[in-house]
Amino acid sequence: MDAILELKNVTKYYGSGSVVTKALDGISFSVRKGEFTAIMGASGSGKSTLLNVISTIDRVSAGEIRVEGRLLTAMKEKELSLFRRDRLGFIFQEYNLLDTLTIGENIVLPLNLKKLPYEKSVQELHSVAKTLDVTEQLDKFPHELSGGQRQRVGIARALAVSPEFIVCDEPISALDVSIQAQVINMFEDLQEEMGLTYLFIAHDLSVVKHISNRIGVMYL
Ligand code: ADP
Ligand code: MG
Repeated sequence: MDAILELKNVTKYYGSGSVVTKALDGISFSVRKGEFTAIMGASGSGKSTLLNVISTIDRVSAGEIRVEGRLLTAMKEKELSLFRRDRLGFIFQEYNLLDTLTIGENIVLPLNLKKLPYEKSVQELHSVAKTLDVTEQLDKFPHELSGGQRQRVGIARALAVSPEFIVCDEPISALDVSIQAQVINMFEDLQEEMGLTYLFIAHDLSVVKHISNRIGVMYL
């Protein structure tokens, strides 16, 4: 039973005094390596907050989060930034590509941050671009791509660093249904090939239910 992620009584408040929002109220669950966990819930139920505290973009107000037994919630900023850089792939709802960089430069950016040798970065770029079928787009700029292509680039960028753990915040809701299915099939292949673990916020369960090992629902 190798849990890659464990949450214990995770609580997150926003604001202070009389205007406190309790976005997460004592959440506990764990995810095993290689599992695909889908999370659903109404708008405002705390899904994005949950991913943000797991990916250490935001801090918990109380509770514990462990990744491979290491207590994230006790780590200092320096250690956390290494964790984000080396272990985690974050795929956002809005693709978050940088408009002034080419597609290739966008994908390679996290590898540069990781100070990977140039040749290795180029190798990794081409391999991940091939997987995501964006090789033809590498010299273009984000505005020259369709929504589906941009999202594939966002996914390529997340995968380029070879993360073990992928968190996705409604990564496909903005895409056409046929492209959604393509992206999910690709996730499925990567899960098998690389043993990736996913935590996936799903807007529409129909596209992910066949690959979900577990489905969690968050209530307001
Ligand atoms: P979901 O992703 O499920 O729609 P969120 O996690 O974005 O929900 O939000 C959960 C609750 O926390 C909402 O009531 C939202 O208004 C509040 N919230 C989210 N982020 C912030 C923030 N940075 N500051 C204050 N309140 C926030
Ligand atoms: Mg959200």
